[in-house]
Amino acid sequence: MSTTPYTFIQAGDKYIISLENHCEIVEAIATFCRDNNITAGIVGGIGAVNTATLRFFNPSTKKYIDKTFTEQMEIANLTGNISTLHGNIYLHLHATFGREDYTALAGHLLTATLSGAGEIVIERIDATLPRRFSPEIGLNIYDL
Ligand code: FE
Repeated sequence: MSTTPYTFIQAGDKYIISLENHCEIVEAIATFCRDNNITAGIVGGIGAVNTATLRFFNPSTKKYIDKTFTEQMEIANLTGNISTLHGNIYLHLHATFGREDYTALAGHLLTATLSGAGEIVIERIDATLPRRFSPEIGLNIYDL
């Protein structure tokens, strides 16, 4: 993967991004944010992938269940936010993937590999959005 796995244009606080085919999209979005000093914002996107690992959080056990799906899928929706944890960029992304049989998979997005287009929009938010780990909930929640 190249060091800049994207091309983009900026329009005010919005960035229109085209991800390079075959990139890992979560890392590519994090790289974009680091490259452009975006530490708070919202993310949206569509495109296609051929493998994705989704995470499900069980609040009663505070454990994660991760599952990888390896097949061609549409990114029907990618949505999430950009914040910081201990000063580092922190992405919270969810995705809905459409399968060949037109059913959908959804969950918290850990990783996915682009297979086709990756059309992302980021809107920068002029604020600091820190997180902290909540032992009670078991997640890195907003600390606003
Ligand atoms: Fe989540």
